[in-house]
Amino acid sequence: MIPDRTGIVVGYRTWRVIPSGWIAPSESLHAQTGHKSWSTTGPTVAVCPPRVQADPNKPLLVQSACETSPEFGCSCGLYARYEPTTETQPLPYVAGSVLAWGRVVHHEKRSFFRAEKALPVAFVRPRGGGGMFPKEAEAKILRVAEELGAGLVDGPEELREYTEREARGW
Ligand SMILES: [Zn+2]
Repeated sequence: MIPDRTGIVVGYRTWRVIPSGWIAPSESLHAQTGHKSWSTTGPTVAVCPPRVQADPNKPLLVQSACETSPEFGCSCGLYARYEPTTETQPLPYVAGSVLAWGRVVHHEKRSFFRAEKALPVAFVRPRGGGGMFPKEAEAKILRVAEELGAGLVDGPEELREYTEREARGW
């Protein structure tokens, strides 16, 4: 399921935790924007969503999705940055790291990449809360981390050390 270490890219990103008790932990780790949830049992695989072009003067056009996500001319894929954010993420947002592999499109100037597959490896422990249900959100991210076997760290430097150590272990 996970390739040898030479094919691994380390990345950092922010997720949004859905605190609601009505939503299973397995559906609770979302991209920062949008409603696509990440797997909490293993690697997440990028899917390119079909796009609908709605021009009132033309028939509705549904563009085909990329055959392999991510493609160069598209915005699909699993996003991550090369460096951890130094900003504290208030709940329901949570910063963390991934190991990514498969097809990877690097965006050097903007210092992020888009990957085909990614596995969260650690999260920065939430520190108090914003959001509507900070206690629930915190409980949820602890459950999600446990399900993923991901680490919990106290800040960006520890996140980087933990993640680089994990990457060497693959
Ligand atoms: Zn695409």
